[in-house]
Amino acid sequence: MPRKLVLFDIDGTLLSVNSINRRILMDALREVYGTEGSAGTHNFAGKMDSIIIYEVLQNSGLSNAVIAENFDKAKRTYIEMFRTQAKPSDIILMEGIRELLDKLSANSELMLGLLTGNFEGSGRHKLLLPDINHYFPFGAFADDGESRNELPQVAVDKAYRLTGQKFTGHNIIIIGDTEHDIACARVLNAKSIAVATGTYSTEELKKHNPHILYENLTATDIVISEILQSSIN
Ligand SMILES: [Mg+2]
Repeated sequence: MPRKLVLFDIDGTLLSVNSINRRILMDALREVYGTEGSAGTHNFAGKMDSIIIYEVLQNSGLSNAVIAENFDKAKRTYIEMFRTQAKPSDIILMEGIRELLDKLSANSELMLGLLTGNFEGSGRHKLLLPDINHYFPFGAFADDGESRNELPQVAVDKAYRLTGQKFTGHNIIIIGDTEHDIACARVLNAKSIAVATGTYSTEELKKHNPHILYENLTATDIVISEILQSSIN
């Protein structure tokens, strides 16, 4: 029976996707709404895909009603384009991640999952391309809530349905590269591990008071011992 739940963010934490991600979103929005809005320059880090679509289109003057009317089509178009166009060479796996996931998944005390702003369809494809999707039996995605802070409880509920185990507090570890991941951990009184492999530097992340802060996740044995510790330092 796993004792701890380890929830990973995707972009900036497990991997990075080159400019094709932004390009595909721009193409999908242009096809569905006739405009890409501010998608060419918008800051996507740590945000839910659904929120990003609203924000970039609001920036070009579209009303929420107009955005909502075609939202499902835009989401489907983006996911479909991403699945057909993104290739393994578009994904860079962060250093140390494969080794870390190998070791974590081999530890029977731990259960791995995803806590991400990605839509499930495109998020899973990002993991399939570098062959790390199989490490994550479940996840909470942009499809599962209106705001990112709703997703931690969704993840806990899904883990309960899979294992019969109710994970709480410091037995949940949330690993991510932005302030939004740290905020998600706070929602559950979970332990936050921030990592500066995305667009945020260690100095920027430090301001948001994560429990643990790493430059990257290459010191796998240290990261794992931190995950296995019950208390927060
Ligand atoms: Mg991220």
